[in-house]
Amino acid sequence: MPRLAALLRPARTAFALVALLLAAPAPAEEVDPDIARFVAANTLWTLFHELGHGFVSIYDLPVVGREEDAVDQLATLVMLTLYGDDPDTRDLVSDAAYGWLLAAAQAEEMDDTAFWGAHALDVQRFTAMVCLLAGADEEAFAEVVELSEIPEDEVARCIDEYEVVARSWDRLLEPHRGAGGPGRLIPRYEASDSPAVAGFVAALRESGFDDLLAEIGQSYRLPYNIAVTFADCGEENAFWDPEAREITICHEMIEGLAALASE
Ligand SMILES: [Zn+2]
Repeated sequence: MPRLAALLRPARTAFALVALLLAAPAPAEEVDPDIARFVAANTLWTLFHELGHGFVSIYDLPVVGREEDAVDQLATLVMLTLYGDDPDTRDLVSDAAYGWLLAAAQAEEMDDTAFWGAHALDVQRFTAMVCLLAGADEEAFAEVVELSEIPEDEVARCIDEYEVVARSWDRLLEPHRGAGGPGRLIPRYEASDSPAVAGFVAALRESGFDDLLAEIGQSYRLPYNIAVTFADCGEENAFWDPEAREITICHEMIEGLAALASE
């Protein structure tokens, strides 16, 4: 696989996270391990997407093109860097792609306003992600690449696109990489009334999520602490809030992911 020069330092804790996700017995709340892995994969991808928005505002990065597309690409690159090389952990990367496919399949009929949204359509977020996976290593991600029915001549374009996107993000983030910034990523867990949500969050924590945040926080010079908060929001979503210096992962999103995986 063409390797990205460590968007994130290859993290021992990250691999420990996955090993546990793949092998751990169900935690106390009895969540299904396959669903827990799907929820974890898509939560991680979403975290990296929101962190991308955070990097853009914290480091005042230039964005040419739609920011939502750019940070989607970063999220996929980080997943590939952390988990893409190891056959035992690749399912986490594929699960994040399947998340968009399942979301697209579940979506109700679109009205014209869908075309005005800041994000690409769910099915396009799936195909854009598959394009990067095929571009990085078509063979390693053969299952999801085949399922996507990507035309063979598009794969050649995706190989070029992966190289451009990886090189671009690498150059944007390189000046900010390294230890020594005063800031850290600080996990915050608010209580959930849903035992299922509490179970999936507990499974994520038990598999080393806090260590992963610590590792990322030490890999970039963050000027201040950023909270990563799991909380009720009243909607299925996740946010970067530059004023509050906070990434919020909504409990409703965890619930929605579990429902998608259960179908
Ligand atoms: Zn976004």
